[in-house]
Amino acid sequence: MSALILDGFGLAETLRAEVRAGVAVFQSQFGKVPGLDVVLVGEDPASQVYTRNKEKASNEVGMRGRLHRLPATTTEAELLALLERLNADDDVDGILVQLPLPPQISENKVLDLVSPAKDVDGFHPVNVGLLASGRPGLVPCTPLGCMRLLALAKVDLKGARAVVVGRSNIVGKPVAQLLLAQHATVTIAHSRTRDLPSVCREADVLVAAVGRPQMIRGDWVKEGAVVIDVGINREPLPDGKTRLVGDVCFGEAKERASAITPVPRGVGPMTIAGLLANTLRAATMRRAR
Ligand code: NDP
Repeated sequence: MSALILDGFGLAETLRAEVRAGVAVFQSQFGKVPGLDVVLVGEDPASQVYTRNKEKASNEVGMRGRLHRLPATTTEAELLALLERLNADDDVDGILVQLPLPPQISENKVLDLVSPAKDVDGFHPVNVGLLASGRPGLVPCTPLGCMRLLALAKVDLKGARAVVVGRSNIVGKPVAQLLLAQHATVTIAHSRTRDLPSVCREADVLVAAVGRPQMIRGDWVKEGAVVIDVGINREPLPDGKTRLVGDVCFGEAKERASAITPVPRGVGPMTIAGLLANTLRAATMRRAR
C-alpha cells in the first residue's frame, strides 16, 4: 500500500483563506480588524524567523500583526509590565510570547499573566483546564493543525485506537485531549513507555511528537494506519548542508500507512494557520462576551 500524502501546505492555505474571509466579516461587524501581538525576547535566530513569519502571516490575512522585540537582557518585571499593557489594550486580541525565554525570566509567570481570553497559544492554565474538561476555549495551534489533517484524511475517530508518542504540554497532551474529545481510545506514550514499537503497532491513528529524527520505523506502523508526524528535526547531510526530517521514517511508513503527513509541508504549515484561526476566534469570543 502507498499512503495518501496529507498536504499540510495546501490545507494551511485553505485555512488561511477561511480566516481572511472571517476577518472581513469581523471588520464589517466591529469596524476594526483583529490584532495579534507577538513578543520576542532575545536574539535566538530560529525564534526571530518564527516571530517574523507570525507577524507577516497575520498581516497577510488582513489582521494587524505587531512584533515587539525586546533585548535578551530584559528583566522579568519589564516583560510582565508589557504583558499587563497588552492585556488592557482593547485593540489587542491575541498575545503570543515566543518561547524559550532567557533564564532570568520565569516561563510560568509569563504564561500565567497573559489574559486567557487573549492566549492564542492556548498555554494558560485556564485554557488547559477548559480543554481537559471538554469546554470551549483556546486550543494550542499545532494540535489544532493535527486535528484538521485527520479531518482531511476523513478518519472516523469514534472508537479508533490512537497512540500519541510524546507528552509535552505544547503538543502531546493537547493532541491526546482532542482525540479523546472525538471519542478515540487514546494511549499517550513517552520515554519510559515499555516496548514502544508494540504500542505503536496497535494504533489506527499514530501521532509522533518526540523530536527524534525518524525514530518511528515502518514496521511500527499498523497496516492502514493514519500517521501524523509532528517532528521537525534538522539532519546533517554529507555535503555539510542539512535537511528537515520528521520523527517518523517517512519512506518506510508510507508503504504501510493509509495516509501520512510529510515533513516538511505536513503539520508545520498548519501551526501558523492555527494561530491565525485562534486570533480571529479570540477576537470574536471577546466581543461576544
Ligand atoms: P518535547 O521535547 O517537549 O517532548 C518530547 C516528548 O517525546 C516527551 O514527552 C518525551 O518523553 C518523548 N520522548 C523523547 N524521547 C523518546 C523516546 N525515545 N521514546 C518515546 N518517547 C520519547 O517536544 P515537543 O512536544 O515540543 O516537540 C516534539 C517534536 O515536534 C519536535 O521535533 C518539535 O520540533 C516538533 N514540533 C513541531 C511543531 C510544528 O509546528 N510542526 C510545533 C511544536 C513542536 P518524556 O516526557 O518522558 O521525556
